Amino acid sequence: MKRIRVIDLLKETKVGQEVCAKGWVRSKRGNKAVNFIALNDGSTILNIQIVVDVAKFDEELLKKITTGACLRVVGELVASQGQGQSVEIIAKDIEIYGEADVNEYPLQKKGHSLEFLREIGHLRPRTNTFSAVLRMRHAMAFAIHQYFNDRGFCYMHTPLITASDCEGAGQMFQVSTLDLNNVPKLEDGKVDFSKDFFGKAASLTVSGQLEGELGALALGAIYTFGPTFRAENSNTPRHLAEFWMIEPEVAFNEITENMDLAEDFLKYLIRYALENCKDDLEFLNKMWDKELIERLNFVVNNDFVRLSYTEGIKILEEAVANGQKFEFPISWGTDLQSEHERYLVEKHFKRPVILIDYPKEIKAFYMKMNEDGKTVRAMDVLFPKIGEIIGGSERENDYEKLKSRIEELGIPMKDMWWYLDTRRFGSAPHAGFGLGFERLMLFVTGMSNIRDVIPFPRTPKNAEF
Ligand code: ATP
Ligand code: MN
Repeated sequence: MKRIRVIDLLKETKVGQEVCAKGWVRSKRGNKAVNFIALNDGSTILNIQIVVDVAKFDEELLKKITTGACLRVVGELVASQGQGQSVEIIAKDIEIYGEADVNEYPLQKKGHSLEFLREIGHLRPRTNTFSAVLRMRHAMAFAIHQYFNDRGFCYMHTPLITASDCEGAGQMFQVSTLDLNNVPKLEDGKVDFSKDFFGKAASLTVSGQLEGELGALALGAIYTFGPTFRAENSNTPRHLAEFWMIEPEVAFNEITENMDLAEDFLKYLIRYALENCKDDLEFLNKMWDKELIERLNFVVNNDFVRLSYTEGIKILEEAVANGQKFEFPISWGTDLQSEHERYLVEKHFKRPVILIDYPKEIKAFYMKMNEDGKTVRAMDVLFPKIGEIIGGSERENDYEKLKSRIEELGIPMKDMWWYLDTRRFGSAPHAGFGLGFERLMLFVTGMSNIRDVIPFPRTPKNAEF
């Protein structure tokens, strides 16, 4: 008999028919005469209730039906007598695929802490919270492709292994096949990378942007969507060592169009979540963040504030003068910490903020220089509860300016010749940004630690599962 998914059973089209459901036991309750099993198969946050007439089943079999066990159930789908569900299955036949020993299975009671669940990362997808997060993660990934496809962007696969370390020097994971216990050395004692797999030092990418620009200057509009790696030793609730990033890059876009794209894109994704992830959102709203749905609606329905870094600093300095306390000092030229970003968003403007025109010293070499010679056309999108969710810029398209910036910063030309070539041949204004996928997931799920919105988080000293 063909299995029907729980999500489809709950559509109530099969009432009065014999059906087959398969899934894992969330809970079992009842009395000597009748048992009620809540069965979940991951297709939805909702369970299907299985009604068991105890007299009709083997006592030994019923004993083995405990939380976590996997079952196949056949029975009639009927309108439910009880409250809390519209339909239920009156069990006729039950087969146990896999038992889950009550004394061993760790997910017995409800309300385990998120910290504890991280320690059992192999089982936590079986909880309501993580299945909701994972379904929403899928929905967001799908919506991202949908958004760009509908607008004529080309999905470009940029490499994960890179031999240029111009962007994230110091925070890159090295990729090597050299024997770490017997590393070949040059006469000066340095590692002889000519003996390594690629014949030179290689690392995992921190961003697909530079290659993405090559694509944009040929295809017009591209986006990347893949994993990126940063060995930064920051143990924060917003940083992972392995995270996913979406990076659109568009020829002929300048900074204003880049801001428009970022705002429209984020609103589209959040609207998509509101429209397509209702049950999961309602659950997460109830369990973890009572203002979640309200916050999502607010962001979709209001314009983002657009402000220069210089004006942002003024507001923060005034706040400090009026008694606002920050852990990190703030003045023109310093990089904003998450506490400053959140002050602007949550306290001052009470809505998302796009901050532009940052001092060149605190931003990357490829950002377009403004007329003032001091600031660059950078753009950070700051969100409530998160801080920076997007970082981007209009790119420097002038060959000479870009070259002198690269020289100023001492970036080796041997790594950059191909990037500079795009400014030598048919250069064009262009702009793009990077959206951290897990930062987006934090926002749309209302979770507060980034370790809880990726199936298997990688952080300093942690690569379990
Ligand atoms: P932050 O200042 O928050 O560390 P960043 O300025 O280093 O971020 P960018 O290089 O601008 O980050 O990367 C683009 C986006 O990627 C960020 O806006 C953020 O959403 C995301 N991101 C950056 N680093 C991480 C990380 N370690 N873990 C998860 N997401 C990240
Ligand atoms: Mn950034």
